[in-house]
Amino acid sequence: MAILPPSTLGILGGGQLGRMFVCAARDLGYEVIVLDPSPDSPAGSMASEHLQTAYDDQQSLDYLAEHCAVITTEFENVPAATMQYLAQKKPVHPRAEAVAVSQNRIQEKTFIQSLGLATSPFIAIESEQDLARAEEFAYPAILKTATLGYDGKGQMVCASAAEAVAAYRTLGQVACVLEQKIDLAREVSVVMGRNADGQSFSFPLAENEHTNGILDVSMVPAAVQPELAQQARQAAEKLAQGLEYVGVMAVEFFIDRDGQLLVNEIAPRTHNTGHYTLDACHSSQFELQVRMICGLPAGLLQCHSPVAMLNLLGDIWPEQGIPPWDAVLNTDKAFLHLYGKKQARKGRKMGHINFLAKNVEQARETLDRTRTLLA
Ligand code: ATP
Ligand code: MG
Repeated sequence: MAILPPSTLGILGGGQLGRMFVCAARDLGYEVIVLDPSPDSPAGSMASEHLQTAYDDQQSLDYLAEHCAVITTEFENVPAATMQYLAQKKPVHPRAEAVAVSQNRIQEKTFIQSLGLATSPFIAIESEQDLARAEEFAYPAILKTATLGYDGKGQMVCASAAEAVAAYRTLGQVACVLEQKIDLAREVSVVMGRNADGQSFSFPLAENEHTNGILDVSMVPAAVQPELAQQARQAAEKLAQGLEYVGVMAVEFFIDRDGQLLVNEIAPRTHNTGHYTLDACHSSQFELQVRMICGLPAGLLQCHSPVAMLNLLGDIWPEQGIPPWDAVLNTDKAFLHLYGKKQARKGRKMGHINFLAKNVEQARETLDRTRTLLA
């Protein structure tokens, strides 16, 4: 039943999440074929083979189906038709329908609420007429495009209904959600795996800080009550079960000033807030993805150390040359991961550093000190 090394695994998408999946899989002795149209693909350069074509290229899909024992994804915007086509020939985990839910914020929030879980209050804006409902909405609010948003892109904060109307036009009159802007006490996330037998396995909760809508820092353990952490893990499992999910997924949560837990969104893939698992847990989220799709036991998901993760964006690259990596590599218990991207652009995720320490406060101090060296 289990798919064992040296079988070949396929992955749709070739960004950094794919790269770290490829590394985990190859470390276990699997071969990996990456499908990604980009010539400069972080995963493609590490893979056994890189099919550099569009996601709907018939020849590539047939090649994948022929050569791979199982196929997964690292990117939620792979066309559903691609996943459905492959699924007729080989196991595809997660299934296309589970991925489709998080491709659209209206469907996603409706699905979350249908399971009895709270989201921030929202209304769907699918046409100019729906804007009439914006009059009665509570402000400040955020207008977000229903599809194709990431790293805070396609979002506008609105102080009034008039601003919501203007924002809808600015965003191109595409389908959107208008959601209440929550006064956040904290943000947390759960990265978890689920296997084909319906068993769930979750990593410890991460506490996350965003800057300009992009993840900046994750810390584990999160400074929340154990009951709340438990509630978040149970909510994530409920969502995974509702999606009949197989593979690794993440759930992002808001905690408001009253301590209420709200589901922000679901990522049908490994997640930036799970990068800490590479150095602080016995098995990483990428190894978990391999294990879940291959029908293997989950491995050991406990943390062996408190950790703080710092995202490295293109912003810290000097115009000429590279950041002072020697300073990072000379730091005790600092683990540098770079994604091999050739172009450093503002806001582009280029790598991350995991800082381990006796406690999370110390890990955070080293992170802050290192950040000043890199600025
Ligand atoms: P990513 O894919 O990187 O998670 P995204 O584009 O899907 O990003 P969101 O998760 O919707 O974006 O928002 C990014 C960040 O913006 C959140 O983590 C949070 O910090 C802030 N944010 C988004 N929605 C709200 C809200 N309703 N209230 C308060 N803050 C919000
Ligand atoms: Mg998000």
